[in-house]
Amino acid sequence: MMWMIAATAVLAIIVLSYSVFPSFALRYVQTWKRKRAGSGRVLYLTFDDGPGGSDTEALLDLLKKYEIKASFFTVAESAGKYPSLIARMKEEGHLIGLHSVHHNNALFRGNRFTYTDLAQSMFALQKLGCDAVYYRPPWGHLNLFTLGWLKRLNLRLIFWDVMAQDWSEKETADTICLKIMRRVFPGAVICLHDGRGAAGAPARTVDALRQALPMLLQEGYTFKRVDDNE
Ligand SMILES: [Zn+2]
Repeated sequence: MMWMIAATAVLAIIVLSYSVFPSFALRYVQTWKRKRAGSGRVLYLTFDDGPGGSDTEALLDLLKKYEIKASFFTVAESAGKYPSLIARMKEEGHLIGLHSVHHNNALFRGNRFTYTDLAQSMFALQKLGCDAVYYRPPWGHLNLFTLGWLKRLNLRLIFWDVMAQDWSEKETADTICLKIMRRVFPGAVICLHDGRGAAGAPARTVDALRQALPMLLQEGYTFKRVDDNE
């Protein structure tokens, strides 16, 4: 009985230190650093899980209207489906980063999966004319191999500070807008989604931003790409 408890405890420690601990600790460290830096009234709009076809198009129109530059963490297989949207993001001055090939979770995966996922997504974006430098892991989950490969591939890890659960069917454009307004702070990285999620979710995200952006601008916030803070 004792050995079973000991074995379970050892296994739990291995799993925690292999993937769970780095996934959560690193995110909190990044947020803590940004809060501490207290850098002016700047916000970083980031969009994961796209491109999402016409929703991404509507989002790009909206960003253009307010002359806002954002950062898109694209899923490589979706990027391959919408090369013209990737070209438009690039042309309009947005940052394009990596968010895996198929949006698989890296939490309990091994070395080979971790490397292949990163390398294939880099290659897919290179074929579309983008040399991605930033990587945001799906669900914010990574493992120790991820950290090693990011270093070797010269990729930078970026998490987020503010989420609005905009992928959920429970949220409306109004509640997403409200969450953004309530949760932002100077220097915050906001994570929203222009693809995947519940039916109609990315369209609600765009509608939420139609409300939130003028209010945030009114509050004196400016918007930058994530590579503008280093
Ligand atoms: Zn994602």
